[in-house]
Amino acid sequence: MSVGSDYQRLRAHLAFLRMAAAAEALPALLDEAIKNKLSNQAFLERLLAVEVDAVDERRRASLARFASLPSPFTLADFDYTAQPSVDPKLIAELGSLRFVDDATNVLFIGPPGVGKTMLAVGLGHAAVAAGMRTYYTTAAELAAKCHRAALEGRWATTMRFYAGPRLLIIDEVGYLPLPAEAAAALFQVVSQRYLKGSIALTTNLGIASWGKVFNDDPMVAGAMLDRLLHRSVVINIDGDSYRMRTHRARAEATRKAVNGS
Ligand code: ADP
Ligand code: MG
Repeated sequence: MSVGSDYQRLRAHLAFLRMAAAAEALPALLDEAIKNKLSNQAFLERLLAVEVDAVDERRRASLARFASLPSPFTLADFDYTAQPSVDPKLIAELGSLRFVDDATNVLFIGPPGVGKTMLAVGLGHAAVAAGMRTYYTTAAELAAKCHRAALEGRWATTMRFYAGPRLLIIDEVGYLPLPAEAAAALFQVVSQRYLKGSIALTTNLGIASWGKVFNDDPMVAGAMLDRLLHRSVVINIDGDSYRMRTHRARAEATRKAVNGS
């Protein structure tokens, strides 16, 4: 058997196994192997490493697409001096993602503009970087999807969808009161993830006013809070809105420029 046909068959194997990156790198790696007198092992290792890197990269890109995170900000972008009520050590601990291992939930509670979404999304980016399946949704979007699913007879599939990710981010719970059907959907999502998968949830409502999200149905609110809080980290952020802060800083700068002082 000639060297040439070995080469052709090797290419065919790589194509059959859909190892496109390795196939592409093959000629250069073969040249290098000959030039540097690489052992068979070293050559094979290099060839497979090329494919492993490519697959890993694809997986990460696909995880990132699936996660649907609404902004690129990571935990490292969070300015702690602007928000003294947030403990950097606690966020760093959460950023290690150990909480995901025992399906702990993280609740960010506070008024608008204090960085709840930014922190939840930052955890999302950390999870994606760690190769974890992650999904971001707002409570309103979740409610709308479940409503459509119910109409179209896809309820069970949709519930499985929300059970799937290791980390589910539910943003903006409580901004809008949820109709009974939406509350039931949220309740089911929380219930089926209970002790199985983490939820990072943001809300503008203190825990005491959660009944309002559920149209003053204290039973559903209570049952849901039980499951959410049983194993959880609650982060109350009570500082000023960061948006307002930048507005104020800009207004102040403008005022100074105008007054020349
Ligand atoms: P919330 O979800 O609490 O309403 P966001 O997370 O949407 O607030 O924050 C509002 C805006 O301010 C976003 O653009 C966010 O990136 C920015 N922001 C908020 N807090 C901080 C912070 N501590 N450091 C840097 N940017 C921040
Ligand atoms: Mg928000």
